[in-house]
Amino acid sequence: MPNRKTPDALTLKALETAPSMFLILSPDLYIITASDAYLQATETTREAIAGKHIFEAFPDNPELPDGDGVQNINASLQTVLRTKKPDYMRIQRYDIPDRQRPGKFITRYWDPSHTPVLDENGEIAYIIQLATNVTDKILAERALLKSQQEQGETSADLKTRTTELLLSNTELRETQQHLNLLNAQLEERVTRRTRELEESEKRYIEKFNEEQALNEELAASNEEYAAINEELATTNQELTETQQRLQTVYDELAASTERLQLAIESTQLGTWDYNPVTGELYWSQECRDIYGLPAHQEVSLELFSALLHPDDAGWVQQKIAESIDPKKRKRYDVSYRIIRYDNRETRWIKVKGSVYFTGDRATRFIGTVLDITDIKLAEINNARLGAIITSSDDAIVSKTLDSVVTSWNAAAERMFGWTAEEMIGQTIYIIIPDDRNDEEPQIIARLRRGERVEHFETKRLAKDGRLIDVSVTISPIKDSEGHIVGASKIARDITERKQDETRKNDFIGMVSHELKTPLTSLNAILQMASQKLKNSDDSFLSAAMGKANLQVKRMTAMINGFLNVSRLESAKLSIEKSSFRLDALVEEVIEETRLTVSTHRIEFYNCPPVSIFADRDKISSVISNLLGNAIKYSPKDTSISIKCVANSKKVIISIRDEGMGIGAEDAKMIFDRYYRVQATRGKHIAGFGIGLYLSAEIVHRHHGEIWVDSEIGRGSTFYFSLPLNKPSGVD
Ligand code: ADP
Repeated sequence: MPNRKTPDALTLKALETAPSMFLILSPDLYIITASDAYLQATETTREAIAGKHIFEAFPDNPELPDGDGVQNINASLQTVLRTKKPDYMRIQRYDIPDRQRPGKFITRYWDPSHTPVLDENGEIAYIIQLATNVTDKILAERALLKSQQEQGETSADLKTRTTELLLSNTELRETQQHLNLLNAQLEERVTRRTRELEESEKRYIEKFNEEQALNEELAASNEEYAAINEELATTNQELTETQQRLQTVYDELAASTERLQLAIESTQLGTWDYNPVTGELYWSQECRDIYGLPAHQEVSLELFSALLHPDDAGWVQQKIAESIDPKKRKRYDVSYRIIRYDNRETRWIKVKGSVYFTGDRATRFIGTVLDITDIKLAEINNARLGAIITSSDDAIVSKTLDSVVTSWNAAAERMFGWTAEEMIGQTIYIIIPDDRNDEEPQIIARLRRGERVEHFETKRLAKDGRLIDVSVTISPIKDSEGHIVGASKIARDITERKQDETRKNDFIGMVSHELKTPLTSLNAILQMASQKLKNSDDSFLSAAMGKANLQVKRMTAMINGFLNVSRLESAKLSIEKSSFRLDALVEEVIEETRLTVSTHRIEFYNCPPVSIFADRDKISSVISNLLGNAIKYSPKDTSISIKCVANSKKVIISIRDEGMGIGAEDAKMIFDRYYRVQATRGKHIAGFGIGLYLSAEIVHRHHGEIWVDSEIGRGSTFYFSLPLNKPSGVD
């Protein structure tokens, strides 16, 4: 392969576009390229000649004689190849192929020169052919020469012309040389430029690569930066959040500090701060207030010691010493007495403190102080009360409104056999007999209304199963706000008294019973005597007989009453029911009363026919008792009105008088056994206080109700109701 070193692309490009005519050949005479001017002058294209041997591209015109064309050019080229020096040729004819007429040639004259371009080793890299198309000039000269010859010009002229021509040839040569110089310079410039370009390209590439690397780095760092940025943003946000949280915490802290401050202030809690190392002592204003220190008075350890109550000073000092002793570190939570600075008053205080140790040394002792004098006094009072309760012979019990026992004294333990431990927290129902379970809700209901239940007699169950007669007084327990929170119950064992009563009842019963027999006889005798005296003229006797009859009747009623009371007490009072007309019974009782009473107007308002199922005798005694009382407790010539109203469920009988009336307090008690209104006693109206008691018992046993509506000086109205249920449903 022949050596075909070629200029680099850039140089080629520069050469190709140069205005001069160039042909660049390889050392083996193959065309590398030609300048545009060359191509134009030779009327060919770069594609047509590039890569071809110079003589293939530009073949010899076969019509021309030897010595022209290929031969001369080749000789010059060979010289250049041999000498490695430029070779300047004379003007040559070298025809170019006619493009329009294949095989034909166009005459051309040239002044070629060949210049070798050496490589770094001094070898020919390529050869540059420079040429100028001088055809026109030559043809013009030829024509001139021909016409001169034709016109007979002298040879001298010709000589001159030749000289001129030679001169011009010399000029041409000089131009050629100059051109060569230019070419060399160009060459050099091109080479330099090429090198520069190469270098700059290299630099560019380097720079590019560097830039690329830099870019990559930049991208990477950009990414990193973005990540950092993001992280930063997150961190920033976190920071903001933390700050906000911190702010919130600060706010909360401030608020809680304020709350604490307020709380401390509201508790009147004083604070103190003692430095065991320096002996410095600080008291808050509240603390100073507790001690009664005037504004100017400074606090010191000596002052603190001086204000301790003499009875407490010793052990308090010891406690302090033990608390700040690093080996003991005892808790400091004490209550003791102080003597107030201002008025020398003894006060109780409660002091709490914490000691801070630095290494083995107490460096700070800080705490609170509270005046607890009121609490202490209450405690003392409580203890006193407690002692009273403990030593009381009455059972004293407290309970909640849910009937849960909250306290149980020694007497309660003795009375019921249950210990405080067994009872506290338990229900009070433990000591209530089953048949009295309904008492408790009623008692609680009254307590809730704030009422006291006084001397309520009932039975309670001891641990051993014994039934104990008790008289109970129950009071509501109110808290400091006045709310009812429980009940205190004082129970007295009245078993003995009850036994006495039973004995008394038995006695009354026995006596009454014994009295009844002679009274019955007396009654019979009186009846007979009255009969016999019917036709007698002795008005005194008949009147006396009537009075005797009345008195016997009264006495019978009284004895029956006592008998009934004693029966009631021993639970032997029996109710014997039958169906009867209540309206008829009322009428009957009124008629009977009218026979003996003429002092009052007894008015009976039309009563609807009412049939009831009840104990006729006992209901009769209720009506006559109420009517009797109305007469007994109202002045002469007043009216007594009896009414009855009935609906489908019950019938109510009312007996109204215009008498002295009953006060509200008394009205509550008149249905109790042996209860009599004080004023009544003063007026010496006979009675034992058992009539209403018996009436109430009878009505209650019929599941009815009895009550009074009265006002002192305005008369009274007594009512009783009886249910109107079916005979079978009533016991
Ligand atoms: P006694 O009449 O035997 O005293 P009661 O049980 O019948 O007993 O009555 C109890 C008390 O009620 C009487 O003592 C009296 O003070 C009062 N009382 C009863 N009825 C009336 C009445 N109609 N007016 C005023 N007071 C009455």
